[in-house]
Amino acid sequence: MPNLRVPGPTPLPPEVRAAQAQDMINHRGPEFAALLTEVTAGLKEFYQTAHDVLILTASGTGGLEAAIVNTLSPGDRVLAVSVGAFGNRFADIAAAYGAAVDKLEFAWGEPADPAVVAERLRSGGPYVAILLTHNETSTGITNDLEALCNVVRAAPGEPLLLVDAISSLGAIDLPTDRWGCDVVVTGSQKAWMIPPGLTMASVSPKAWQAHRRARMPRFYFDFSMAKRSLEKQQTPFTPAVSLLYALKAGLALLRAEGLAGAVARHRRIGERCRAGIKGLGLALFARESHASNTVTAVRVPPGVEGGALRKALRERHGVVVAGGQGPIADQVFRIGHLGYVSEADIDDVLGALAQTLVREGTAWRIAEGRQATPAR
Ligand SMILES: *Cc1c(COP(=O)(O)O)cnc(C)c1O
Repeated sequence: MPNLRVPGPTPLPPEVRAAQAQDMINHRGPEFAALLTEVTAGLKEFYQTAHDVLILTASGTGGLEAAIVNTLSPGDRVLAVSVGAFGNRFADIAAAYGAAVDKLEFAWGEPADPAVVAERLRSGGPYVAILLTHNETSTGITNDLEALCNVVRAAPGEPLLLVDAISSLGAIDLPTDRWGCDVVVTGSQKAWMIPPGLTMASVSPKAWQAHRRARMPRFYFDFSMAKRSLEKQQTPFTPAVSLLYALKAGLALLRAEGLAGAVARHRRIGERCRAGIKGLGLALFARESHASNTVTAVRVPPGVEGGALRKALRERHGVVVAGGQGPIADQVFRIGHLGYVSEADIDDVLGALAQTLVREGTAWRIAEGRQATPAR
């Protein structure tokens, strides 16, 4: 089996694979009611929220779209803080639905600077909503979301805080209520150890208030419909039942480990990955003070072609890593280390990289690299 090390979809634990193979049930019947109630309660634990969490059938981008259309009206002034491809996507969705989007962009590989965001909120506001990315999967940056939330909460006009936490929630600490996040979106194929196809969104009381005024067009992703159905322990439309079986099994594994345990594991593995990469003489793309513990972007070394490197890893070692996105597509490759991942998985990637670089005749600092590569 290949070592699938892209930042989602992630490999599946055997318990999850078995769970999702179960036969169908009536999605308007008592077994489904119990299932939906259990997974919703489990998600709230990892969201650290006492408020609503809605599960929608869509990929993560559908959740981002839901966050926008359920809380905003055309013409609303929105500040989109972007540090990469997914921050740009969030801004594009708001613009597509007619929001008046101001974009505050930081260089790829850098985090959002809370002081610069605070200044923009003062000089450019008031805004109805701020769009933030917790973990930018295209660059391997984790923003200081707590500091960013603090400056947003102090801003004029009490803007809504809409957060893309698709590649962080469940792996990197995000206390939704304590930090005052109004809608936090995640996706099933990231830290949750289940296949793609579900997206989850928390909705704060303030987001519900905004929802009542919000006039952007919506139907399939309407939070009111989802909430009314949830009160009857159902979903408005036929849900992805198999994915909910999988989610129940994934949450059971995560609960056994505990949120603190899962966060610590991702921290350990993230650090091990970065240390190993540097040990090979390779350069990290993201500023290390804000390096992500779920994905590492590595600069393709000079004289090496990224596509060829990834092909060699895949064909000779069964190690599947991701390429870059957008303007850095050819400059980096990305190692996913979220969800169902252990130290051994990362050591396997580092070992395969070391061998590939030697074989490809790229000899720089490889001797040091061998020493610094963790023992296997
Ligand atoms: C994966 C990801 C998305 C997109 O999710 P899809 O499931 O591909 O729609 C959005 N934002 C971030 C930060 C992601 O990592």
